[in-house]
Amino acid sequence: MKVRSVKEGDTEVLVPVPEEGANFAPSAAPVFFNPVMEMNRDISIAATSAFLKRMESDPEKTITYVDALSASGIRGLRVANEIGIETTLNDWSEDAYQLILENIEKLGIDGHTFARHKNANVLLHEKHFNIVDLDPFGTPAPFLAAAARSVIDLLEVTATDTAPLCGAHLNSGIRKYAAIPLNNEYHSEMGVRILLGRIARELSLHDKAMIPLLSHATRHYVRTYLHIRRGAKQADKMLKKMGFIAQCECGNREIVYGLAVHVRDKCSLCGKENIISGPMWLGELHEPEFCDETIEELEQRNCGTKEMSVKMLQFCRDELDIPMFYEQHLLCKKLGVSASAIDTLITALRDNGHKASRTHFSGTSFKTDAELPDIERIIADI
Ligand code: SAM
Repeated sequence: MKVRSVKEGDTEVLVPVPEEGANFAPSAAPVFFNPVMEMNRDISIAATSAFLKRMESDPEKTITYVDALSASGIRGLRVANEIGIETTLNDWSEDAYQLILENIEKLGIDGHTFARHKNANVLLHEKHFNIVDLDPFGTPAPFLAAAARSVIDLLEVTATDTAPLCGAHLNSGIRKYAAIPLNNEYHSEMGVRILLGRIARELSLHDKAMIPLLSHATRHYVRTYLHIRRGAKQADKMLKKMGFIAQCECGNREIVYGLAVHVRDKCSLCGKENIISGPMWLGELHEPEFCDETIEELEQRNCGTKEMSVKMLQFCRDELDIPMFYEQHLLCKKLGVSASAIDTLITALRDNGHKASRTHFSGTSFKTDAELPDIERIIADI
C-alpha cells in the first residue's frame, strides 16, 4: 500500500494514497481516509478535551477512549497525541491495523496508545470505555447496541447515511433506525433527531440516559456528543423527551412528546390528514455552555478548520432549543411574497413577542416558538 504523510492539528499521520483508477475516492483505498472530515475531527478533539476538563475533579482516574472504527487511526491518534489520554484504536482490516501500528510507533505514543484488530462489536462487548467514538462508513446502527453497553461517560457518534436518516431512502431509514423519518424542508434536523432517538432507546436498555452536549448536521454527515448518565430513573426521564411530529401539507406541525401517546391524525388548523414521523428525540441538541467550552478549545488549538468550526458552533450555541426549524423561502413562496434578510425576520418575530433564532442547519431557516399563523402574518407584514 502506498502511503503519504498528512498533518491535522498537531499530529502527522501516514494515510493511504487512493488508487488512481477509482477516481481517488477515499473508500477505494485499501485503508479509508477522507480529508474532507478534518472539520469533524477538529471539533472532536476540541469537544473531547472540553469534556475531559469537566471531569478533571478526579485527577487519579484513568480515562479510556476508544476509536472503535479507526481506519488509518487519524481520529484516535489525534486524541492520543493532542490530548494524551489512554487510547485504543481498533479496526478489523489487516491493512488498517498494520497502518495504525506504524502510526503509533512513528508518533512515539505507544506508552498510552493501544492497537486492536477485532470486530468493533466484540471489543465493545468485552470492555467498558469512558469515551466511545463511532465513526463508521454510513450508518452507526450495527454498532449502537455494543457502544451503549460499553460507554461510561461520553458517546461520540458520526452517521454519514443522511439519505436514510432524512427520509430520502425511507425503507432503509425505517430498517436502520426503527423510526419513520419525514423528507421535507427540515429533513436535516429530522436526521439528527432520528439518530438521537435510536441511540436513546439503545441506552435505555442498559438503564443509561444521554444528555446531548453538541449535535450537528454538516455537509453529508451528522455528528453528536452525548454525556452518559446511569440509572433507570434517568433513562425514564430521557424517554419522556422522545416523541412524534404530526405534519400537515398546509405547513402546520404538532410536536407530540412521549412514546405512549395518541398522535392526532388530522391537522388542527385545516383538518387535512397529518403525516406522522417518529419516534425521534425531541429534547435538546446542545448545551450552550458546552458549545462555548468547545469553541474555547478550538481557539487555543492548532486546527485547519478553526474558523469554520467556531462559526458553526456559535450557530449551535445560539439556536433555540425547539424541534424543527422553518424554511423562510418555502413560507414566502406559499404567501407569494419575497424573502427578507433572515435577521430582519428574526427581529420581526422577536418584536412581536416570540422567541426566534437562526439555526446551524441552514442559512435561510429559523427557529421560533410562534405558531404558523403568527409566523405567516409577520412574514407578510415585513
Ligand atoms: N474513523 C476513521 C477516520 O476518522 O478517518 C474512518 C473510519 S472508516 C469510515 C470505517 C472503518 O471501519 C473502516 O476502516 C473499516 O475497515 C472499519 N470497520 C467496518 N466494520 C467494522 C467492524 N465490524 N469492526 C471493526 N472495524 C470495522
